[in-house]
Amino acid sequence: MAFEGLAERLQGTMRKIRGKGKVTESDVKEMMREVRLALLEADVNFKVVKDFVKKVGERAVGQDVLKSLTPGQQVIKIVQEELTNLMGGSQSQIAVAKRPPTVIMMVGLQGAGKTTTTGKLANLLRKKYNRNPLLVAADIYRPAAIKQLETLGKQLGMSVFSLGDKVSPVKIAEEAIQKAKEDHHDYVIIDTAGRLHIDSELMDELKGIRELVHPDEIFLVVDAMTGQDAVNVAQSFNDQLGITGVILTKLDGDTRGGAALSIRAVTNKPIKFAGMGEKMDALEPFHPERMASRILG
Ligand code: GDP
Repeated sequence: MAFEGLAERLQGTMRKIRGKGKVTESDVKEMMREVRLALLEADVNFKVVKDFVKKVGERAVGQDVLKSLTPGQQVIKIVQEELTNLMGGSQSQIAVAKRPPTVIMMVGLQGAGKTTTTGKLANLLRKKYNRNPLLVAADIYRPAAIKQLETLGKQLGMSVFSLGDKVSPVKIAEEAIQKAKEDHHDYVIIDTAGRLHIDSELMDELKGIRELVHPDEIFLVVDAMTGQDAVNVAQSFNDQLGITGVILTKLDGDTRGGAALSIRAVTNKPIKFAGMGEKMDALEPFHPERMASRILG
């Protein structure tokens, strides 16, 4: 299960402080030392941990907290609030263009789950929001990516736009939007090319698509299992391309949690959805508060 080690450790720490009738500054210090170690062990970004510990520590030793009737519970509430803030505070909504179609670009490295998530997102938009998306196969480099999206489209009963792998992704995107307008699709989800590593060729191609289609959302798909690598990838994509949100995949696996807890703070971009499995219905809006509750028990 995701966050298992972190949850276990933090819950142990919180249990110690919960029942205390009196909490001293040194109790708080001891607690924060344990929290710090637990977060570092969960592969949370070093600077993120430092800021988090400082913020919680400062709030927790406030006079009204330690002098309250239930200081232990107050301190735990602060940890819960700051953990929620760390992951973005409230749930973040998907954009809607003033004039349809709303255009979403899916970007990310190969293997992160981009093509699968494109299908899942289309499915979610239809089921939860009653939308009618057009899927666009613009990953012309990975062998089988086009076929994969077409298969997903067939499985979901949704239209997939493709022009094969001989036409440039920019041209594919342009024609797809035209097609979406003609066929009254309200969302267009473009599955762009991934690479094994970030390179300037990839970024140039993505920028080319961005300039042409002016997407309402650029979602970076990252694999939660890759921890701090995911955070570095997110930072690079955000610096070079500008993203509007992150979709974390494979949160059904046993990720330690570093990516989920660091990405928002490092990139200042919200995590919008979480992939919870390989099936087409395994995508959920990301709820920071629920995630924090799950970690703290
Ligand atoms: P792409 O190269 O980024 O387009 O990656 P794919 O969409 O082909 O996905 C790579 C692998 O990850 C596939 O085997 C997917 O089924 C799997 N995958 C994607 N999302 C998830 C997820 O949320 N959970 C799990 N367990 N597997 C996922």
